[in-house]
Amino acid sequence: MKKILVTGGAGYIGSCTVIELHKAGYTPVIVDNFSNSDKSVMARLEKVLGFSPKLYAIDCNDKEKLDAVFELENDIAGVIHFAAHKAVGESVQKPNMYYYNNVNSLLVLLDVMQKHGVKNIVFSSSCTVYGQPDALPVTEETPEKTAESPYGFTKQICERILKDQKQTGQNFFKTVLLRYFNPVGAHESGIIGELPLGVPNNLVPYIALVASGKLPMLTVFGDDYNTPDGSCIRDYIHVCDLALAHIQSLQWLDKAPENACEVFNIGVGKGETVLGCIHTFEKVNGVKVPLKIGARRSGDIEKIYADNQKALQELGWKPKYTLADAMQSVWKWQQFIDEQIHNKKP
Ligand code: UDP
Repeated sequence: MKKILVTGGAGYIGSCTVIELHKAGYTPVIVDNFSNSDKSVMARLEKVLGFSPKLYAIDCNDKEKLDAVFELENDIAGVIHFAAHKAVGESVQKPNMYYYNNVNSLLVLLDVMQKHGVKNIVFSSSCTVYGQPDALPVTEETPEKTAESPYGFTKQICERILKDQKQTGQNFFKTVLLRYFNPVGAHESGIIGELPLGVPNNLVPYIALVASGKLPMLTVFGDDYNTPDGSCIRDYIHVCDLALAHIQSLQWLDKAPENACEVFNIGVGKGETVLGCIHTFEKVNGVKVPLKIGARRSGDIEKIYADNQKALQELGWKPKYTLADAMQSVWKWQQFIDEQIHNKKP
């Protein structure tokens, strides 16, 4: 069983990927400092997997400790690097925290990987690198725009760092950069999903909290965009489909030539409006989501969705879940966390 180090493996996408790794016959080893995840995820992962995955509760910026992990786990076949700060608004308030953490941790990781002869890396990038594109859907060739936030810029910098490894002439790293569109949904078990600390910024966890009565009302940020119902358009991808793309990326890397470094869009390839998402949630779950129309959120782009042909053809990846499936799974997960997690907190 090939051992895969998963940085940020206790987080939302990381924990779902740990499950998929196990299903695909890999041994996941988690590195996570729990800066944006709840420790209860480990017990829940154990329930789903039937065993407790190996965990190192360390910060990826700590070179000595990361080096010790690679020393102890001496046969790591590849790394999936999720660990990063990801809140756009916070990154505007605390840019240096984002640059130190997101950029530095990648540099530390690359050093340690090279020292230990680990070549394969799958990196979590984001469609945020495209900004508001001039034409839709976006392909991997669509030019990047100036990043709207320090968070977005860290993704552009990290992509560049990984692409630059090709120019060193060392033929060392083999890299897949996955540009995620909007990950939503929860694992079918209903016990693994997104657990935002505090009030969420993202649409879908906010919808679920309003539906469960924990928040009074959802504000739709603008209904005067140039879209069919006036609200923004995004490409919402089920987190389990997204998780699977990482497994297929690892398999792709095994066959890839020396020095390979490829970018793939991971989205369903179809746009949905904010109001469309809310209506889908209400319809599949039979619950109302009280809402009001508010002002546009600063920095929001009007519309974006992926051309995912490259991932379909080269990775052999295909999303199987619909937005309705995702919304159903989110509601199941919300009910679980209301009962098991929120009620237990003081
Ligand atoms: N959105 C909204 N109300 C909210 C949160 C988000 O109307 O409370 C909208 C937001 O303006 C955007 C879409 O939902 O058009 C997705 O936002 P999210 O923050 O989830 O993702 P991102 O902006 O990164 O695509």
